[in-house]
Amino acid sequence: MDNILLWVLLITFIAGFCGTGLGGVVSSFFKKDSKKTVSLLLSFAGGVMLAVVCFDLIFDVIFPENMSGPQNLSIVVSGIILGYAIVALLNYLIDLHTNIEISHIDESHPKTADDLDELIHSDHYYKHKEENKHLFVAGIIMATAIALHNLPEGIAIGVAYVQKDVENLWTGGAFILSVIIALHNIPEGMAVAVPLIAGGMSKKKAVLITALSGLPTVLGAFIGYMLGSMGTLWHALSLSFASGAMLYVVFGELVPESILMWKSKVPSFAIIIGMICGLIIIFI
Ligand SMILES: [Zn+2]
Repeated sequence: MDNILLWVLLITFIAGFCGTGLGGVVSSFFKKDSKKTVSLLLSFAGGVMLAVVCFDLIFDVIFPENMSGPQNLSIVVSGIILGYAIVALLNYLIDLHTNIEISHIDESHPKTADDLDELIHSDHYYKHKEENKHLFVAGIIMATAIALHNLPEGIAIGVAYVQKDVENLWTGGAFILSVIIALHNIPEGMAVAVPLIAGGMSKKKAVLITALSGLPTVLGAFIGYMLGSMGTLWHALSLSFASGAMLYVVFGELVPESILMWKSKVPSFAIIIGMICGLIIIFI
């Protein structure tokens, strides 16, 4: 097995298992919500990710190091559309399923993942722990949903690391991508751990289950790295696929979530700041 691949698996283990697990740890101390801070963090992370996708990943596809001319644009465009569409569809199916499952738990219970989100951020929730036993099941369903959703994120990291040397492991777009995915896993981990803990599970066990839901990132990285290593065409296709998938994470998750948490123009300002910071980190 490739030396680089082992490193990539380790990096995605940290981003997936530890990032999501950290969300679990944070939520076991979580008392008062700070929606505005989280909103700014999410939108800033979205901006950095946009910079990585546009200035690094897509740039690498269009101007591959081992080709004299630019890549065929139709390959790039179809890869991006395919990546966006497949991840959007996957997330739609997961959401649909999550919402149905959660609405079956209890009539009085939140009907959608968004309702659940709102509930776990309310003070009421923390004062009535014993009434929230049924949330335990909701937490397990959230864990499964997050686990599935982490697979394409791992694929993106894996592909981004193809054709990189050991010296370039901790720099450049692929590394920034891993850091951003690790960071955005923290609120996702909180979404899993909060209902588990409030539903009566011990904090240790809840943190462990939350961290485990981050493991598919590692499997995704393996798949992504393998696909990307199958030749130039596959590399271009899978890298543009990963770019499309990350565009979905930005515009389907990070941006709407940050605006839901803080309904103002400030999050979009944070996106621009994030993009500029991303641009500087990539080319410095
Ligand atoms: Zn995610």
